[in-house]
Amino acid sequence: MYLGQQSVQTLRGIGPKKAQLFRQLGIDTCMDLLRYAPFRFDDWRKQVPPHQMGAGEKHVFTGIIMQTELRRGRRGQSVFKALVEGAAGTLVAVWFNRYQPDRQLYQGVRVLLYGAMQSRGGRDFVVTQHVLLKDDTDVSSYLRLQPVYPAIEGLKSTIIEQAVAQLMPLQAEQVPEIFNEEARRQYNMMPLFVAYQQLHYPDTPEEWQNARRTLGIAEVFLTLRWLKQQQDYSVCGVQLQSDHRILQAYLKRLPFQLTAGQHKVIQEILADLAAPIQMHRLLQGDVGSGKTVVAIAAMLEAFGAGYSAVLIAPTELLARQHFNTLSAQLKELDIPVHCLTAALSSKERSYILDTLTTPGPHLVIGTHALLEERVAIHRLGLVVIDEQHRFGVAQRRALLDKGDQPNLLVMTATPIPRSLALTVYGDLDLSVIPERPAARGKIQTIWMKEEKRADMYRFVAEQLAKGRQVYVVCPLIETSEKLDLQDAMQLAVHLQERVFPKYQVALLHGKMHADEKRATMQAFRDNTVQVLVSTTVIEVGIDIANATVMIVENAERFGLAQLHQLRGRVGRGQENSYCILISEANSTDSEKRMRIMVQHHNGFDIADADLALRGPGEFLGLRQHGATLFRFIDMAQDLALLELAKSLAANSEAVTASTVALYDAELAERFVL
Ligand code: ADP
Ligand code: MG
Repeated sequence: MYLGQQSVQTLRGIGPKKAQLFRQLGIDTCMDLLRYAPFRFDDWRKQVPPHQMGAGEKHVFTGIIMQTELRRGRRGQSVFKALVEGAAGTLVAVWFNRYQPDRQLYQGVRVLLYGAMQSRGGRDFVVTQHVLLKDDTDVSSYLRLQPVYPAIEGLKSTIIEQAVAQLMPLQAEQVPEIFNEEARRQYNMMPLFVAYQQLHYPDTPEEWQNARRTLGIAEVFLTLRWLKQQQDYSVCGVQLQSDHRILQAYLKRLPFQLTAGQHKVIQEILADLAAPIQMHRLLQGDVGSGKTVVAIAAMLEAFGAGYSAVLIAPTELLARQHFNTLSAQLKELDIPVHCLTAALSSKERSYILDTLTTPGPHLVIGTHALLEERVAIHRLGLVVIDEQHRFGVAQRRALLDKGDQPNLLVMTATPIPRSLALTVYGDLDLSVIPERPAARGKIQTIWMKEEKRADMYRFVAEQLAKGRQVYVVCPLIETSEKLDLQDAMQLAVHLQERVFPKYQVALLHGKMHADEKRATMQAFRDNTVQVLVSTTVIEVGIDIANATVMIVENAERFGLAQLHQLRGRVGRGQENSYCILISEANSTDSEKRMRIMVQHHNGFDIADADLALRGPGEFLGLRQHGATLFRFIDMAQDLALLELAKSLAANSEAVTASTVALYDAELAERFVL
């Protein structure tokens, strides 16, 4: 059976709880598991006699436990030792602290140990990993390159490995082949099932490289082919014909000039809308580049053509903000706009629901509440999705299904690394706003350690004295959300009472009631609150020009994409703005990330820098879209492979059509458009 149809829960040792953890890694099926590549290997191939082991060098040793001893030290520490005798000699295996000696290890048990000698010629061997060997276990099956997987709390690499091991050896029908023999020979690729086998348990490092290469080509190949198909398979859609009057009236009233990028993108969209083919356009623009104006322009064009348009945003706050902006702008034009969110009273809601079904056209903005089945929109001609990475494919579909092939515009600030965008989205409908509006102040990013906090508050006080406003963002992580929230509350109280008593400080967090959130946000917007302490509920979209300082507490706890989004909350007016990252940055990784934030201001540059630092998956978040499919290819380095896959994709004879369909179905699940 194809492993894409087998849940990981069918594997030994994985119940619902573990399955949940696997899901966090983007692993639902056994195929997902196969695609979860080890990030390094421990070399278990060679056995060396104890006296030849250098200090600190990792080695494998097998033998029988002769004698054990447990010592408890002070402060609850413990050391467990076992005298182990093997064919190549004898050593003393040592487990510090981490090993709770249970009934597994006792005299007469055969073990395989992986660890290192403390000193050359010594006897103490510090164990990092051990395997219990049954009498009939063939040791040689362990003497290989041992995969080590990126782990998360509760899901150690060894547990992942135990799951993967159950799938081996792979059978050809479990991973259906895509390429025919000739193509494989021509491009020097392994059969896919062999490649997956070698990816996890390579015979040699070279075989591993080859496996990665094959899988890299395959994944890019499938993706490109799938994307191409989507494009060929253009659906007849709603054709919007309008005299542009309403659109022009709106653009004329804007208090600013469109940037060249905005202008160009609006033209692209107008052309799409006027064509009798369903629009599928991805609009990508850095935080603050002014995507909303473009979305509204598209909506008004639909409206002008007699069709309804809907805009969905991921948070109540953001939907409200869009609604307020738009209704203010459309007041003079006498065009009504509706806002549908979960926070409405049932009376308000049923009024809106009724209105939307009457002959329109209608303009609607809302949150997930729009997705409900009872929401029906008369003559829906355009769907706009803001911050697309916050929505799943099913949600997009639910919205599209409210019309008859309506046009689709999805917007994102998530920078898709340049190399990736060019290669993958090369032939798709992609619009980019490359620049921020010119009449903006600069944003300076400063990384600061705790010891400078007092100086920082003095600086912030100066900004407040100039009439500016300040965001303070505290991280919330799921495992100790309560404690984190307490921290944020305490910080808010501290700032109000001790630091900025002359100003109004307010707290905004995700657990607050929607009305409260809205009121707090409005107070900040009206400048009756000057300092807004918040958890990341303000991360996306919020637009308040007078706020010029963004302070991020424990900045190392945020990903680069998130930090960049947060920084995007300031620098929206003409004044200079400041993003202050507070972090002790205790690891080289966090230090690097802080430096990237200080150095780079453009989301694309950050994406590229991050790509170099960790590979594509991390930046875009697990399981978001396209980029995460590329687990085996290093976008920054394997451009030649990309080209190769591209040329293969153009050659339809290279594939076995029936099996490709299997993979297509999976891709469809994961893609944006
Ligand atoms: P994002 O792309 O992050 O969604 P927004 O659409 O929220 O950005 O726009 C950010 C701010 O810039 C808004 O206040 C908007 O009114 C303003 N803005 C948009 N376009 C321009 C422009 N061409 N010139 C000046 N300001 C603009
Ligand atoms: Mg936005």
